[in-house]
Amino acid sequence: MRAVRYTAPTEFEVVEIQTPQPAAGQVLIKVIQTGVCGTDLHLHHGDFDAKFPMIPGHEVVGTVAALGEGVTRFSIGEQVTVNPNLPCGLCSYCLSGRVILCENSTGLGSNMPGFFAEYGCVPEQLVFSVEGMGVDTAVFTEPASCAMHGLETLNVRPGSTALVIGAGPTGLLLAQLIASGGATAVTVAGPTPFKLETAKALGATNAVLIDRNDAAGNIEALRAASPSGDGYDIVVEATGATTVGDICVPLTRNGGTVLIYGVTRADEVMTFHPYDVFRREITIKGSFAEMTSFGATIAALRAGRVRTDGIITHRFSLDEYGTALRTLAKDKTAHKVVIVP
Ligand SMILES: [Zn+2]
Ligand SMILES: [Zn+2]
Repeated sequence: MRAVRYTAPTEFEVVEIQTPQPAAGQVLIKVIQTGVCGTDLHLHHGDFDAKFPMIPGHEVVGTVAALGEGVTRFSIGEQVTVNPNLPCGLCSYCLSGRVILCENSTGLGSNMPGFFAEYGCVPEQLVFSVEGMGVDTAVFTEPASCAMHGLETLNVRPGSTALVIGAGPTGLLLAQLIASGGATAVTVAGPTPFKLETAKALGATNAVLIDRNDAAGNIEALRAASPSGDGYDIVVEATGATTVGDICVPLTRNGGTVLIYGVTRADEVMTFHPYDVFRREITIKGSFAEMTSFGATIAALRAGRVRTDGIITHRFSLDEYGTALRTLAKDKTAHKVVIVP
């Protein structure tokens, strides 16, 4: 089979390798398409737990091509997706049922082979049926699951107002889930007009264009756009830009919650005034990926509680992987980019 294989950061080639065969308890999946994610840009540079050699790709939809001994829950040809995150099962967090906090978790597409390839072979417990779902929706199951974990983390108080700063695919998925989770108004802010159009089409109450180069300069306009005029009960940082992180606490209403959802580099710093957090009882939370959200997410996608219409803008072949990465990083017309092997 053909696959994108890295030997070191930024060093990759499309190579011909042996198609894996499913051992007992494993499922061989023929890839239909795989989403390219902001995380893949971090992995390209060797960040985010990348282990080389590496086959990236963690947002897959495909069909079951072969079943290892003992696998009974799937049939050949069934359309499936894969949870790429595997807890170790042995650390103190796993043993106390908090697998998202696992200290030794592994990830398909970062430190285990992923799906920018024609086939992938995975343990049965990571496979989920998406039979009958459109492939352009099913390919969003993993990012929507990360958003579902964000919703679980937020624990939305009914009647809340929310601001999601960042109109990328995961920002728009999370904005929809926050609405379905009890918020009465969800504003999406971003620097790209067409992404905000998509946000509106997917049900955002309000969409506000912000200036990426002057994050602090947007505070007044964003506050004015809130339903109560004084900010939001929930503010989500979904850009990974520290300058955006800096404006989250000032935009949060008393007793509200800031959710750090975008990925920054490990050495970056955001700032807030502790007196403000203390006096106004602001909660700052983080939400990292997901471990156990696929079931709820597939149900939400099937029910139309989360929609994905119009988010995919670009499709490339395996051979065009470099172009796909450049498009995601630099092309202002790119929203979701997918690879079709
Ligand atoms: Zn992703
Ligand atoms: Zn663990």
